[in-house]
Amino acid sequence: MVKQTIQIFARVKPPARKQQSGIYSIDEDEKLTPSLEIILPHDLADGFVNNKRESYRFKFQRIFDQDAKQEMVFEHIARPVAESVLAGYNSTIFAYGQTGSGKTFTITGGAERYSDRGIIPRTLSYIFEQLQKDSSKIYTTHISYLEIYNECGYDLLDPRHEASRLEDLPKVTILEDPDQNIHLKNLSLHQATTEEEALNLLFLGDTNRMIAETPMNQASTRSHCIFTVHLSSKEPGSATVRHAKLHLVDLAGSERVAKTGVGGQLLTEAKYINLSLHYLEQVIIALSEKHRSHIPYRNSMMTSVLRDSLGGNCMTTMIATLSLEKRNIDESISTCRFAQRVALIKNEAVLNEEIDPRLMILRLQKEIQELKDELAMVTGEPRTEALTEAELLQLEKLITSFLEDQDPEGRLEVGADMRKINHCFHYLKKLLKDSKTPEKSTVSEIKTQNCQEPPREEEYKRLQDILKQRDNEINILVNMLKKEKKKAQDALQLGNVDRGEARLPHSPAFPPGSAEEGQKTLQSSAPTQAPDFSSSRYRSSLLHNKTGMREEMSLGRQEAFEIFKRDHADSVTVDDNKQILKQRFSEAKALGESINEARSKIGRLKEEITQRHKQQVALGISESMGVSEPDLQEEQLRSQLEEEKRRYKTMFTRLKALKVEIEHLQLLMDRAKVKLQKEFEVWWAEEATNLQVSSPASNSLRQEKPLSQPCSSQRDGLHRSDWSSRKHPPSPCSSPCSPGQGSIDTRRESSPPKRPVSSIPLTGDRQTDSDILAFIKARQSILQRKCLGGN
Ligand code: ADP
Ligand code: MG
Repeated sequence: MVKQTIQIFARVKPPARKQQSGIYSIDEDEKLTPSLEIILPHDLADGFVNNKRESYRFKFQRIFDQDAKQEMVFEHIARPVAESVLAGYNSTIFAYGQTGSGKTFTITGGAERYSDRGIIPRTLSYIFEQLQKDSSKIYTTHISYLEIYNECGYDLLDPRHEASRLEDLPKVTILEDPDQNIHLKNLSLHQATTEEEALNLLFLGDTNRMIAETPMNQASTRSHCIFTVHLSSKEPGSATVRHAKLHLVDLAGSERVAKTGVGGQLLTEAKYINLSLHYLEQVIIALSEKHRSHIPYRNSMMTSVLRDSLGGNCMTTMIATLSLEKRNIDESISTCRFAQRVALIKNEAVLNEEIDPRLMILRLQKEIQELKDELAMVTGEPRTEALTEAELLQLEKLITSFLEDQDPEGRLEVGADMRKINHCFHYLKKLLKDSKTPEKSTVSEIKTQNCQEPPREEEYKRLQDILKQRDNEINILVNMLKKEKKKAQDALQLGNVDRGEARLPHSPAFPPGSAEEGQKTLQSSAPTQAPDFSSSRYRSSLLHNKTGMREEMSLGRQEAFEIFKRDHADSVTVDDNKQILKQRFSEAKALGESINEARSKIGRLKEEITQRHKQQVALGISESMGVSEPDLQEEQLRSQLEEEKRRYKTMFTRLKALKVEIEHLQLLMDRAKVKLQKEFEVWWAEEATNLQVSSPASNSLRQEKPLSQPCSSQRDGLHRSDWSSRKHPPSPCSSPCSPGQGSIDTRRESSPPKRPVSSIPLTGDRQTDSDILAFIKARQSILQRKCLGGN
């Protein structure tokens, strides 16, 4: 048993705007626990924080300042946690903080760069790496992904769900067994045998979550997400299985309800979030107070699900995410206060071992059989019950191998069981009889044939013709089959070539029969049984189903989408990632080729060494020299071989790392595509509505009415409410072909993050796709003329 208080860490997010200095300081004395001091600006000190203190100091296990990289956060926080999961302990990491403070960035990662991947992908990578290294145990890994929104649980990995609204997803409910263990009904578990499969599940969950979200229902900031890795391990032959769970939790924004000040649905959401975080706080308070017998876990779904992580059988870590800007001071202080209370909670983690009943039964059955045999031998009492099917099969196998054994002294060991001995004799007799029968029948056949009159010439010819026909038919069918097979192969290759730009070239990189590592990788990336979430094909079909292709786009819409895509701030990231991906692909391809070369070279060197060795031995014998002197050339060859092997290994390791990076970049790009498509849909719907309500043709500039935004509570300003500030007239400058504008950089500088800058001037009557199409065409031709003129 390991007793440990919940570990608390703090992470400060880089400010969105220019650094405001003097708001906080970090004291990291080697000998003392690090502390974070939040300094109240004078104008706030006697304002909303209702006393006149000027600074607050909080202690943390470690504090990650603005410049801390994801790698560092993983190394110090998640790696030790992953290790305890591998050792068999339940573990939890949860991120707590106000909206926009970096919870998702820390837990899942940023959507733009590979280096921004967060705790979940890095932990998965680490766990699978360790599992591959450890061959002393058999491991099984399953993944589940739960979202809790408005006190309802949703399975983000439900394979059936094609739903686009959160409300349409099947609800996950909590069941409690008599031992007070929590079970989640309707939450699916998916086996992941490789890192890639696990990452695909993460991607699938995040995509489902993004798709279920609408501007009216920004679930991502108001819901809790729990990504769980279920790890089981056992030693070969043992019936004891060890289970460990790792929860990686991205909590809802912790901002206070009183500050949201909004009505309608949003208030309901805010209330719920704050309710469930409020219940979390109550649980934490109850746990941190000594002698409290009742802990109110059951008040909310989240605290019920995380019951073990809070004051139970779990090693738990909290990351307080802080956005330390002046306007967020009060929220930051309350996040730190919460963390201080959490740090008082003591957990007791135990190894979760249980006996697998199936394995136990098998073992006991075997033992019983052995004991019975022994008993029969000792007592000499004959056994009367019939042999079982399995025993008969086993005996027959023994007899076959006995007969095939070339050793004249070989024995047939069946133990002191007369039933078995008898069965062996019967079986042998039968074999003997069968081996004689064909000769007999041949003789009798000949006899009968001799008795009959010889077949007529005509009949013989007819039969021969039929035979010929059948032969022809078979040939034709075989040819057809071959053609079909070739077609299928060509199509497959073509598909690979089509995707070649975006998919990893498996074959040159991992040639079949290459070194041991190669085989392992091949095996581990082999497709598993259904449902197959692992393949990139699955991803593209998901994209296809869930996004643009949900309904066929009209021409107008397609063109509008192209413009929207081009002007969207994310396109810069997508383009950048495409470039990186291309580079990685060529690197992987080149590496694959070098690996193949190295492999052949290793083969050649081995061959040469063998030849040389043989020659030397022959020479030694012919010259009748006792012990030959060390052969310098052979030694040289050997050291070359070693060198080549090292090179091979280095390249192989690099290729493996490249594979992971490529996969991740593909996931990021796929996700960006889904996001873009979704934002386009929203924008399009909005434009269509505006078309219907906008004023007459005289108004050539768009009459922008703010979106009915529910997000006013999000003071961070990172959310869709940004969209409502689109007041740009159509700007030809944003076109990539505008001369001298350096469109990519322009967009980077001029557009605030994630905001589409193109907008269509609406003149009242246009209500159909074709009207929009006409407009877009006109706009394009103006742009083209401008470009031509410019050049
Ligand atoms: P939350 O999940 O707490 O609402 P996010 O993780 O979505 O917040 O972060 C809000 C924004 O800030 C995102 O655009 C994210 O990329 C960025 N961000 C958060 N933390 C960091 C960090 N440590 N470094 C760089 N960018 C960050
Ligand atoms: Mg978030």
